[in-house]
Amino acid sequence: EATVSNQTIVHYHPDMLDHRQQRLTMEAQLRKAIANYELRLYFQPQMDIATGKIIGAEALLRWQHGENMVSPVEFIPVAEQSGLIIEIGEWIIEQACRVAKNLLDAGQAIPIAINISARQFQHPELYQQIERALQRHQLPAELIELEITESVAMHQQDEVLAVLNRFKALGVGLSIDDFGTGYSSLAYLRQFPVNKLKIDRSFIVEMLEQSEDEALVNTIIGISHHLQMKVVAEGVETEPQLARLKEMGCDTLQGYLYSRPLPESDFNQFVKATTAS
Ligand code: C2E
Ligand code: CA
Ligand code: CA
Ligand code: CA
Repeated sequence: EATVSNQTIVHYHPDMLDHRQQRLTMEAQLRKAIANYELRLYFQPQMDIATGKIIGAEALLRWQHGENMVSPVEFIPVAEQSGLIIEIGEWIIEQACRVAKNLLDAGQAIPIAINISARQFQHPELYQQIERALQRHQLPAELIELEITESVAMHQQDEVLAVLNRFKALGVGLSIDDFGTGYSSLAYLRQFPVNKLKIDRSFIVEMLEQSEDEALVNTIIGISHHLQMKVVAEGVETEPQLARLKEMGCDTLQGYLYSRPLPESDFNQFVKATTAS
């Protein structure tokens, strides 16, 4: 019962130890997952609201762990904290470029959007990773898009602006993800060389029941267009949502109404089926 051991107990509170232990266990398993090729990239189609045709896709990471599919919501934070996200991110960039190039060779120019986490975005090698992957695959830069969240975009705005301008010069597309969930400075947003805003699913879910949500969706669509950006609604699941978003002038839809995220071969099939005339 010495003070020191009391302090130790306080510092390593059972819950914390548990939590820390869990994180370390998952980190070790994630390292194995990389070595054993248990990570998969899925692709969710993005549809042009006017034509109903596919105009892009978002790459979403999956971890097939034994029988279970571990959600990225659980392991991305662990990958972030441990730094494994840099290695995983490079693999994602490689896969996305490969898939976009295969589609291009088959006659379909479909941009693939990649989620870039905070730590990846701050990493000095991200730019080179992307530049090299584009070169290796002889892929036009416009066929890769980067999604950064609103919170990453609004943190250290001057540094972010400099990085975004480099990517813009390279020619890749840039989107702000989860728009509406953080605090965006509209003054900064105006300066960002961003092509797209993605409206977070949380606003779409009850849009037709909650007039406040609908008003926000409408406002975000207006802001996007005033800033000459395209706007994507995420998590669209029903025809009535589609109809309302169309009335409001939204450009692009992504959601279970059209398709869940698909493994590569199913995604290629989806593209073939929806682009055949
Ligand atoms: P996010 O970037 O906002 O991705 C959209 C999420 O919404 C995806 O969840 C997608 O499956 C889901 N979604 C799309 N349409 C619908 C719908 O109609 N209904 C419902 N209920 N959900 C829909 P997912 O794949 O579980 O990913 C969750 C989050 O994990 C992503 O949110 C993103 O923040 C992160 N994440 C996923 N893949 C990656 C990755 O490759 N890199 C990084 N850094 N983060 C990733
Ligand atoms: Ca995203
Ligand atoms: Ca999102
Ligand atoms: Ca989201």
